[in-house]
Amino acid sequence: MGVIHIQKFEKYKKEGYMGVFVGGCVNRGEGSSFRAQGHAHCFKGSTNEGWICVRSKKRLFMANGKPSRLLWHELAHILSKAGHTDKWRAKMKELGQPLEARYKKKKRLAYRVINVPYFLPCGKRYGWVKKRV
Ligand SMILES: [Zn+2]
Ligand SMILES: [Zn+2]
Repeated sequence: MGVIHIQKFEKYKKEGYMGVFVGGCVNRGEGSSFRAQGHAHCFKGSTNEGWICVRSKKRLFMANGKPSRLLWHELAHILSKAGHTDKWRAKMKELGQPLEARYKKKKRLAYRVINVPYFLPCGKRYGWVKKRV
């Protein structure tokens, strides 16, 4: 496969996007392997900065021919030059991409834990128990 063109992404070239490489990592060529479905060379000064690498061409487009979620996800890394940070999340929003649950910011617990006295049936205070409020 090698280098492919994503029509919809062309306009991002002026923002640092370079292209998509399929079938390996652009640094090592076709047939090289890596763990994730895809990755982005998004950090300043990294070799081939601006490139998105995708392992399998099956992951490039959705059934309707639009770029896959994976590609948008990696594009957001390129444009934000960031990992899964607020900057990247903001870029995903800008691109109109939904965030998968695992990339959402972890919310703080919606409850507090307090100690409340625990009473025995006879009315005697027995100790403390934790309660969510
Ligand atoms: Zn790569
Ligand atoms: Zn990512």
